[in-house]
Amino acid sequence: MQTQLLPVTAESLALAGGLIRAGELVAFPTETVYGLGANALDEAAVKRIFEAKGRPGDNPLIAHISAIDQLYPLIAAEPGEAARKLMAAYWPGPMTLIFPKSPAVPAAVTAGLSTVAVRFPAHPAARALIDAAGVPIAAPSANRSGRPSPTTAAHVLADMDGRIPLILDGGPCEVGLESTVIDVTGSEPRILRPGGVTREMIAAAAGSAGVDEAVLRPLKDGERPRSPGMKYRHYAPKGSLTIVQGAPEAVTARISAMYDEAQAAGRSPLILALEGHLPAYGGRRALSLGADAAGMARALFNRLREADDLGADAIFSEAVSTDGVGLAVMNRLDRAAAFHIIEV
Ligand code: AMP
Ligand code: MG
Repeated sequence: MQTQLLPVTAESLALAGGLIRAGELVAFPTETVYGLGANALDEAAVKRIFEAKGRPGDNPLIAHISAIDQLYPLIAAEPGEAARKLMAAYWPGPMTLIFPKSPAVPAAVTAGLSTVAVRFPAHPAARALIDAAGVPIAAPSANRSGRPSPTTAAHVLADMDGRIPLILDGGPCEVGLESTVIDVTGSEPRILRPGGVTREMIAAAAGSAGVDEAVLRPLKDGERPRSPGMKYRHYAPKGSLTIVQGAPEAVTARISAMYDEAQAAGRSPLILALEGHLPAYGGRRALSLGADAAGMARALFNRLREADDLGADAIFSEAVSTDGVGLAVMNRLDRAAAFHIIEV
C-alpha cells in the first residue's frame, strides 16, 4: 500500500473523511499525540487498526467526537455530576472519560469491556476530520504497538509507511503525551492514565480525584488489568532504558558512572537529562528533556525515538517530580524503562 502524507487542507480533509467512511484508516494530529483513526461504529474498520499497529486485541481504543451531542449515542447512562463538571471544564481537550457503553459501540473498540472511553479533542484538524467523516472516530496512538507514541507526522510515517493510506500532517503535537484517562463510572473520578489534564486540575473541577495505584507501578503477577494498556512494556525505545531517581547531585554522579561503565564495555550510551543539568555531564553524549515538566511532556517521545536513531543501546534518564504533568511524564518513562528504576 502507498502511504500519502498530506498537509491539512480542505481537500485533504475531504479525502480523509471519505476514507474513514469507506472503512479505511487515517492518521491525524491531535493536541496530545498523533492518532490512527477508523469509523468507531464499523467493527471491520476498527479491526484494521489492531492489524496496522500490531496491537493486542485486549487493549481498548478511545472514541473521538467533535461535539457533545455525539457522546450520548455511545454511552448507556446519563453522565453523573462529576463527569458533567469535568466535561464543562476540560472538553474539548486532552481528557478521556470512561462511561458504561451503549450497544452501538462495537466490541472491538472497547476490547470487550462494558465501558467505552470517549474524548472530545481540541485540535482543529482532529475536529475537522471527525466532522468530515460524519462519524465518531476510534483511535489509539499512531505508533506500532510498544513503540513511543508519535508526536510528529514523520514519526507516524516511520512506523506506518506502507500500512495505511493517509497521514494528515498538522505539525508537532502541543501536549506530547496521551490524554488523561478518567473512570467516571464510580462515586469518585479515578485517573487510570495521567496526562495533560492533571490530578490537581481534576480535583479543582470535580472536588476530588483518585489515582489508580497501578499508575506508578507495574502490575503484579496474575493481577488483572482494569485498563489493558497498563499491562505491557510500552512507549519503549529499542535500547535498554534505566531511570535514576534521587537528589540531583547523586543522580548526575550515578548516571555519569553508569555511562562510563557502559562505554568501557563497548556499548553506545546516551543520557536524557533536564536542560539545566546538561553541563554536569561534561562531554558525555546527552539530550535535553526540556526545562520543566510541560517541556518534558512535549519532548519525551521525540527523545526516545532520537535515542533509537542515534543507535544508543544503553540509555540513562533522570526522573522528575510527579507534581502536575510530571505524573504523566513519570508514568510513561517508567513503562518505557519496563520499571527499571534505580534509587540513589
Ligand atoms: P492509546 O491511545 O494507544 O494510548 O490507547 C487508548 C488507551 O485508553 C488504552 O490503552 C487504555 O488505557 C484506555 N482505555 C480505553 N478504553 C478504556 C476503558 N473502557 N477502560 C479503561 N481504559 C480504557
Ligand atoms: Mg498508544
